[in-house]
Amino acid sequence: MRKNITLYTIVMIIMLSVTISIFSLYNLRKTGIKSAIHNAQSISEVVKSGLTAHMINGNMQDVDTFINSASNIKNVEQLWLVRSKFVNEQFASSHLKNPPRDDFDKKALATGKMQYKIEEEITSTTVRVTIPYNAVAEKGIDCLKCHQVEQGTTLGAVSIVLDISTIKEIGIESIYVITVLILTTIILFILVSRRLISPYLRLFDKFKININQATHGRFKGIVPPSGLSAEMIHITEDYNNLIQSFKDTAVDIDKKLQGFVGFKASNKNRNPLKDSKEIIDNLSNLYQFKKQIELDNTKEEIYDRLAEVLRNKFNLKNFSFVEIDMKKHKMTTMKQCGESLYCDETLKNNPEVCRAARTKSDVMSVQFHNTCPHFESDKLYYCFNVDITQSLYLIINCVCDTQEELEELKEKTVFIKSYLKESVPSIEVKLLMNALQESAFTDGLTGLYNRKFLEEYTKKMLPQVKRDGTNIALLMLDMDHFKAVNDEYGHDIGDKVLKELARILNETVRESDIIIRYGGEEFMILLMGVNSDEDALSVARKIGDKVRENEIDVYAGNKLKKTVSLGLSMYPEDSTSFETVIKNADIALYEAKNSGRDKVVRFKEEQVSSVDLF
Ligand code: GH3
Ligand code: MG
Ligand code: MG
Repeated sequence: MRKNITLYTIVMIIMLSVTISIFSLYNLRKTGIKSAIHNAQSISEVVKSGLTAHMINGNMQDVDTFINSASNIKNVEQLWLVRSKFVNEQFASSHLKNPPRDDFDKKALATGKMQYKIEEEITSTTVRVTIPYNAVAEKGIDCLKCHQVEQGTTLGAVSIVLDISTIKEIGIESIYVITVLILTTIILFILVSRRLISPYLRLFDKFKININQATHGRFKGIVPPSGLSAEMIHITEDYNNLIQSFKDTAVDIDKKLQGFVGFKASNKNRNPLKDSKEIIDNLSNLYQFKKQIELDNTKEEIYDRLAEVLRNKFNLKNFSFVEIDMKKHKMTTMKQCGESLYCDETLKNNPEVCRAARTKSDVMSVQFHNTCPHFESDKLYYCFNVDITQSLYLIINCVCDTQEELEELKEKTVFIKSYLKESVPSIEVKLLMNALQESAFTDGLTGLYNRKFLEEYTKKMLPQVKRDGTNIALLMLDMDHFKAVNDEYGHDIGDKVLKELARILNETVRESDIIIRYGGEEFMILLMGVNSDEDALSVARKIGDKVRENEIDVYAGNKLKKTVSLGLSMYPEDSTSFETVIKNADIALYEAKNSGRDKVVRFKEEQVSSVDLF
């Protein structure tokens, strides 16, 4: 910078000096020419007066001597007289012919106006001036007295060649002087700039470096160089204060924000300002994400959104969301992006061995070493463990093709985890909501569906059954003399008996059949898609048999055996109204009770009239 300024200034001084020199030389020359013409005019006046005097005195024979003496005037190289044709005609006898020597003379005679030209050669410069004498009739001089011409007629001219070479010499001298002046000025400038400007330039350089460093997050103050004005020292101090407050604020923001979402530990040349901006951007995105998932309806929607973030924000291509329910020993793949899940069969049948879920921490492949024995591929992987509840884990298994890809993913884990962390409460809420909805339709004691479920279910299921033309066998079941169990063994044992019955029912009917605790110790079983009454009766009998054979531990090694009564009605065979079919099954059950209990009774129309409900 300093070099540049010095160079620019020197160039400017030289340019200015050259301009001034050219201007001065031009003016010098102009003045020289002007003064030469002026001299010539004076000489011509002298010659004119001399000539007139010679004419009046009648000694024109001495004119040549006079002209010769006039030629000896300083700087006059040549001087000659020219006579016009008017004078020659009038004084034809005179020896003074003096015709025009060249076109220049002729022009002066023809126009009656002064003519001049400059003739420059390498060594000398001359001015040729031809001044015409025009006839005047004034008090002092009246040319018309002798010359028979009209006033204003050009009578003759004097041509003078004047040497003005001295002007050139003066010009060359001036150039020498100016060059010396320029050199002196430059030397003076360098000396002055060294002493006065240098500290400012040094300060400027320091500002330049420090500002550049500040843009990269390195805030450093400036030590002002000596030789600065008080004002500049003040400005430097203000700058230092500003930089210090920048530093404090940036470091403070950085420290606080790191606490929210962490930072990239591998980044050694950290720029607090840039990092803070990045962290704020991440926080803002995270906040938006959180707001959106709070409004999501289901857990699946949250998983979709999370997968979108992993794909679009973190550029992950291959990953799976797996839920591991430790209580239910269940592993469910919730989402699959890109490659398939490489967890082996052991894990699928026995999810509690999943390393990430078991250790409650992230698991990743390490070079030349298989960390997780259940990952069935040579590819690299990173499994995020997310504890949703105490027994439910979300494992995000990411598959990488190269070590670089895995390293990149590891760099991002802090930010990915912040998204996962924010998702957990919302996923938990959705799980609770699901559980709540489920509990509204299930019976707390037996885990079977309740009557509320039956209402909802029939609404959806009956139109389908009607369309498909299939049958439903409706069994109404009631435990025989159940009150006696409560009375004899207490309610706890009564509950145990009910649970045992629920287990037997679950084990006996198909998965597609529906078991409902209809109320107290009364159960309804819907055998879906049965072919005939006989098939339904055989299932009912099987239930009766299993219950009868089942021994329930009561206390002190005592065993209890119970029986059940069942009523069967068929839909749509008995009625196209489902309510009527329920009622019919109830009537059949009543019949079973009345006819001795521990039996299965198929509904018949005639039972309707024989039922004595009260
Ligand atoms: P039967 O059906 O053979 O005519 O005789 P029962 O003794 O089974 O008849 P009842 O319907 O009068 O008795 C049902 C009893 O079931 C009455 C009630 O105290 C009992 N009970 C209903 N719900 C529960 C329950 O959840 N737990 C227990 N322990 N008892 C229940
Ligand atoms: Mg009952
Ligand atoms: Mg009963």
